[in-house]
Amino acid sequence: MAFDFEKILIEKHTIEKRVIELGKKISSDYTDKELLVICILKGSILFFADLIRSLSIPVKIDFIKASSYGTRTSTSGEVKVNDLLSEKIKGQSVLLVEDIVDSGFTIKRILDFFMEQGAADVRVCTLLDKPDRRATDIKPDYSGFTIPDEFVVGYGMDFDQKYRNLPYIAVLKETEK
Ligand code: 5GP
Repeated sequence: MAFDFEKILIEKHTIEKRVIELGKKISSDYTDKELLVICILKGSILFFADLIRSLSIPVKIDFIKASSYGTRTSTSGEVKVNDLLSEKIKGQSVLLVEDIVDSGFTIKRILDFFMEQGAADVRVCTLLDKPDRRATDIKPDYSGFTIPDEFVVGYGMDFDQKYRNLPYIAVLKETEK
């Protein structure tokens, strides 16, 4: 079955270039600190894997899963955090790696969760930022690309659990949704 996209929004090589830039910036910001990098499953898996390989500092990694309730293309304010963590959080510098910050409810809930666990410092690195739809006061510390209010898939992001394996980011045709 062929993919039917409206357009490719961000090409593979553009993502690769930006991830390297983010990796350099994060490495220089955390030279003197021990950093725990958190992959927020499932959407940030490809971004996370590329980002940690672009870091020039030693880091620990861990995983967390967040599920939100809402329609198929937008989230509600209710977010559940399924804790898969095995690393100690108390006193740690933590970097949350997210695919998209949209309303901001998901990342805010996760940020609060890590603060409640006693993290020393929690920052957010998102691949995509959709500021038009923000409903919280969240501002990512690191952001790959700011995009308009369009539903995107690929590079980890899904629609009905499909398209996560695409190496680029695309906008689905209305008929595909
Ligand atoms: P928020 O809680 O900020 O509204 O939504 C964040 C989560 O909603 C993201 O982690 C992602 O899972 C999902 N999401 C938001 N916008 C999009 C989008 O355009 N495409 C996909 N595939 N997921 C999205």
